[in-house]
Amino acid sequence: MSSGPDCGSYSRVRDSVVPLQSTPRTDAPTVSRATGTTPHVLVADEDPVASGALAWLLREQGYQVTSVSERQRLIDVLERTRPDLLLVDVEDLGAAGEQLLERVKGDERWRDVPIVVATHLPTNGKAMSVLVPPRIADDYVTKPFRVPELLARINTQLRAHSELRLARAALAAARAELERAREDVASNRQIVDILHEVTGELSATEIYRILVRRVSRALSLSRCSVVLASAGDETGAVVASFEDPATPNLEIRLERYPEIIAALESQRPVLIRDAHSDAMFEQVRKLWLEEGRDVAVRSVAALPFNVDRWRSGVLVLRTERHERDLAHDDVEFAEAVVTAAVAAIKRAQALESTRADNRRLEALATTDPLTRLLNRRALLERLSREVDRAKRYESMLTLLLLDIDHFKRINDERGHLVGDAVLRQIGALVEASVRTVDIAARYGGEEFVLLLPETSQDGGIIFAERLRESIERYPFDASGEEPLHLTASIGVATFPSPRVDSTEDLFGRADEALYRAKSSGRNQVRT
Ligand code: GH3
Ligand code: MG
Ligand code: MG
Repeated sequence: MSSGPDCGSYSRVRDSVVPLQSTPRTDAPTVSRATGTTPHVLVADEDPVASGALAWLLREQGYQVTSVSERQRLIDVLERTRPDLLLVDVEDLGAAGEQLLERVKGDERWRDVPIVVATHLPTNGKAMSVLVPPRIADDYVTKPFRVPELLARINTQLRAHSELRLARAALAAARAELERAREDVASNRQIVDILHEVTGELSATEIYRILVRRVSRALSLSRCSVVLASAGDETGAVVASFEDPATPNLEIRLERYPEIIAALESQRPVLIRDAHSDAMFEQVRKLWLEEGRDVAVRSVAALPFNVDRWRSGVLVLRTERHERDLAHDDVEFAEAVVTAAVAAIKRAQALESTRADNRRLEALATTDPLTRLLNRRALLERLSREVDRAKRYESMLTLLLLDIDHFKRINDERGHLVGDAVLRQIGALVEASVRTVDIAARYGGEEFVLLLPETSQDGGIIFAERLRESIERYPFDASGEEPLHLTASIGVATFPSPRVDSTEDLFGRADEALYRAKSSGRNQVRT
């Protein structure tokens, strides 16, 4: 049944086709909008003659036609020919025929191929829709069919099929678009991640490390580094490198890296797809040759960045011989990450300088300007904290209250400025005498307080005695004049001890002890 019978012979074919005179070829078949080709109809007819007649008729109407007359070959032919429509012409579909069509309809590959069944009206009083249910066919025509009706049905189904295909293609395109959008979001998220990480305590070097790690992983590169340099420099410093994370400020000669020089000079990304053929690498290739080096590099890209006036550089991406070429997309992605990283460094800096400002403010608020020791306010805060801590850990805390003896005289005899200078030197002596856990403060005027955590009364007395002696021995500088000698009295109190339960008690006891020291002749330590 390769070609249809001639015009005169088709009428001999059973009663399946009514004469052709009623079907002048007026409406051409719907050209498949999805494929842009002539629709392809697969005719399945158990009678080869009838099948041939149908095929001929359809070809006459402009369709591409394939015929199959054995049921068992239907799937095979479907696979091979991928038709746009299946026309099944049967005397009686039967259970086996129904099953076969169900199988076709249920197959993912052909679920969209419309099936039109041409069959006789049922004789058993059943409705056609029962005989040819929708699950096995999209439409049916009863025999003997009228050709215009058959063609109209076929065209309707083909149109629907074509629309379905287009819709599916659009859906697939939309899915692909969605997937791309997802990837974009994912890569943006990677960029954003950098910013998140930076809200922590990251230094610029750490950000450079994140940058090379992110870019290398996202683009599957084995080589990626950050080189700090400015236009005109002869050398650059590798501050981060994915291939060698431990790189400590490795210095490189830029003459070997024309892409870095070009990027620094142009302040634009430079992409070299193949360093072994690109003109930019001509001189470098000569060097490689002279040195007998087999350099495995393939593509290189250099992206310039500027953090501030002092810090500029490039992100360098490289692929090796066996790897892929770098493309503009790679550069675009890397650029976005670089921009984010630079912004992150700037933010980190802003944060750092804000913190530094805060630290300065904090220091100003808690430091005595003359001696640089803690001031009274800060001392009282620390004292209540230390008392709480001593309570919690059942440990001891000793407080020393120091007052310079006859300080008024120094002011009177040598002037206020000398008095200030002496206070400053006492402050330094006090500061030098303490351990890191101890707290030294200027309590006011010429009174100093030392707070000694984890220290018993005996320990406190030893400490106070040592300090008293060092003051007594110390020749205080009196701005060119003869050095001054002076003494101090110290009161010692310890928490916990009888009747010492709070900071007030502790201060009170130390003050009483100081008074005792003064009244017993000064230059001594008392509890
Ligand atoms: P005492 O042995 O009893 O302690 O005698 P004193 O002269 O030291 O007496 P007192 O402690 O009452 O006097 C402290 C003096 O210290 C009063 C004040 O003129 C002086 N003084 C307080 N603060 C400062 C300061 O910041 N700079 C200078 N130069 N003098 C101060
Ligand atoms: Mg005093
Ligand atoms: Mg005094």
